[in-house]
Amino acid sequence: MNRIQEIIAELVETANHPAKAVKASMKETGKKAVGCFPYYTPDEIIYAAGLLPVGLWGGQTDIKLADKYLQSFCCSIMRINVEQGLKGMYDFLSAVIIPAYCDTLKCICDNWHVAVPQTYLIPMVYPQHRKIAAGVAYLIDEYKRVQKELETIAGKKITEKDLEDSIVLYEDYRKTMRQFTAIVSKYSKTLNAKTRHLIIKAAYFMDKRLYTIKIKELMEELKKLPEEKLDGIKVVVTGILAETDALLDAFVQNKIVFVADDLAHESRQFRTSVRSEGTALERLAYRIADHDGCSLLYDEEKKHGQLLIDLVRENHADGVVVCMMKFCNPEEFDYPIYKKELEAAGIPMLYLEIEQKMDSAEQIRTRIQSFAEMVK
Ligand code: SF4
Repeated sequence: MNRIQEIIAELVETANHPAKAVKASMKETGKKAVGCFPYYTPDEIIYAAGLLPVGLWGGQTDIKLADKYLQSFCCSIMRINVEQGLKGMYDFLSAVIIPAYCDTLKCICDNWHVAVPQTYLIPMVYPQHRKIAAGVAYLIDEYKRVQKELETIAGKKITEKDLEDSIVLYEDYRKTMRQFTAIVSKYSKTLNAKTRHLIIKAAYFMDKRLYTIKIKELMEELKKLPEEKLDGIKVVVTGILAETDALLDAFVQNKIVFVADDLAHESRQFRTSVRSEGTALERLAYRIADHDGCSLLYDEEKKHGQLLIDLVRENHADGVVVCMMKFCNPEEFDYPIYKKELEAAGIPMLYLEIEQKMDSAEQIRTRIQSFAEMVK
C-alpha cells in the first residue's frame, strides 16, 4: 500500500466508524467531546475551550425508539440522531449543541430534554435577518452564552487568544478543503464520488489540526503523480448530504464525478471565510452573515440558483445532481426557485429524493444510469 492509499484508508475507516474514531481521538488528545447537530455550530468556540467538536449527521441505525418523539414525516437525519441518543450512543459526549434552523430542529431541542436527558443540551437560535446589524449583534450574544456553557464543561475560561488561535486553525482547514475539492477533477479515479465523500466526512470525527495535516499530505502526494484522465460525467451536487453507500456506489459505477459540491455536509461548511477585522466572536458572526446560497440561511435575494450556475460554469460540469433529503422543508422550498434558473440556463439536472436509511436504492440507481446516458 503506498502513502496515498494509506491516508485514504485511514480517513475512510474514520468516516465509516465514527464512534470508534472519536473515542480514539479523545484518548489521543485528552479532550472531552461535544456533539454538533447540523448546521453551522460555532466549532471554533468549542475547539478554543479545549474540547473536541464532533459532527452528528445521522447514520445507518434502524429507527425504532425515535418514533415515540418525532413524526414519521421528519427527516431521517434527525430521526436517526434522536434514535442514537435514545440508544445511549452519544453518552460519551459531554454535551450536544442543537441549532434551531428548521421546524424539525426546533422540535428536537424540546424533545431532547425529555428523550435524552443524560446528554446535556446547549440550544442555539440563529437570526433570520443575519445580515443586518441587529442580527449580527444577536448572534454575538448567542455565541457569548454558548461560550459560557462551554467554559463550564471545559472547566476553563476561553480567552480572546484561544478564540483567535482556533479561528486561524479553522481558516486553514477551510482553505485546505477548498484546495482539496478543487483537485478532484484531476484525480477523479482515486477521488471518486464515494472516496471524496468519505474523506470529507472524516473531518467531523477528528481533531481539525490533525485532519488538516492529513489532507495537506494527501494533496502533496497526489500532486507527485500524473493527472488521471477524466472520462466520465462531471456534475455539481447540491443538497443536505449525499449518502448512502448504495447511492454513492451508483455514481461511481456510472462514472459520475463530483467536480464541485454545494452540500450542507461538505462545501457549505468551508466555502466562506471569516472577515479579517473585529473581535473573534464578531468575525464568527459575520461568517454566518456573509455565507450565501444555503437554503438554511434566509436570503431575500435568492442567490442559490446563480451560485449553482457559477459552479457548473467554473468547473465545466455537465449538470447538477440534487440530493433532496426527504421531508426537508427548507431545501424543498428552495428547489423550485433554482430549478427554473438552471432550466433557463440550459443545465441538465437530476433530482433524487434520498433518505439516510433506504431499503432499496434500485430506483435511484436506474435514474442515475438514465441521467448518465442522457448527458453523455
Ligand atoms: S434542514 Fe432539513 S435535513 Fe436539516 S434538520 Fe431540518 S428538515 Fe432535517
